[in-house]
Amino acid sequence: MSTTLEGKVALVTGASSGIGRATALALSNAGARVAVGARRADRLKSLAEDAPGETLVLDLDVTDRQSVQDGVAATVERFGALDIVVNNAGVMLSGMILGADTTEWTRMVETNLLGSMYTVHAALPHLLRSKGAVVQISSTSGRTASAAGGVYAATKFGITAFSEALRQEVTERGVRVVVIEPGFVATELAGHITDPAIHAMAKNMAESMRTLQPEDIAGAVLYAVTQPGHVAVNEILVRPTDQTR
Ligand code: NDP
Repeated sequence: MSTTLEGKVALVTGASSGIGRATALALSNAGARVAVGARRADRLKSLAEDAPGETLVLDLDVTDRQSVQDGVAATVERFGALDIVVNNAGVMLSGMILGADTTEWTRMVETNLLGSMYTVHAALPHLLRSKGAVVQISSTSGRTASAAGGVYAATKFGITAFSEALRQEVTERGVRVVVIEPGFVATELAGHITDPAIHAMAKNMAESMRTLQPEDIAGAVLYAVTQPGHVAVNEILVRPTDQTR
């Protein structure tokens, strides 16, 4: 365990699997006390057991503004401050626009976009106090949209727009805003796609390359949040070497 983030308090949304889990462990390994939030409490409990440092398990649904406010308040009450927020919770329900089940669109917008906005809204007063950092997990889909990924990409483009406005609003007050754009990472994300053909496409894509692992993205988060105070790493794009588009 390193002591790079000794004394710091982090909150990671969507910490029950994939990138969020790996990031929470990396932050804990670096010495931070970490609040871990998601809906699957059993997964969070096992994460808390694996983390070397102090953790707080939060029953968190980012689509519910009150749940987000309560999660942030519980973190500050338990640890006394908030220095790092990793806005990671997300869903990718890829599909064509024609004939789409629009409830999937609602879920993506409410989780990926509104959920991360609620988290920033609730955390910002604390981050201004601590001169902290917000890490926004966007995607390569936040730079380039493609067929069957329109709504997912719209949420990630939205995160980039919101993050740049946030950066301009708070950077001179010492809060750093980091957008991380992963390419294909081996996680549960594509497992929730309901269209069988598109689900199969995602599976084929994963099998066709050496995908990133969640720890690769956790490393990027750690890099950004361990810079000296005057260095703002605002954007990191990480693709698998084998990923062309
Ligand atoms: P996972 O499916 O493994 O993780 C998603 C996490 O989000 C889970 O912990 C899940 O927890 C949580 N989550 C979903 N809905 C909610 C909700 N309403 N409230 C709270 N938490 C929620 O996928 P990844 O690790 O891949 O995804 C993490 C982030 O990385 C996402 O934002 C995704 O868009 C982004 N990303 C992923 C890429 C990839 O290739 N895997 C590429 C680029 C970006 P629970 O279900 O327990 O609530």
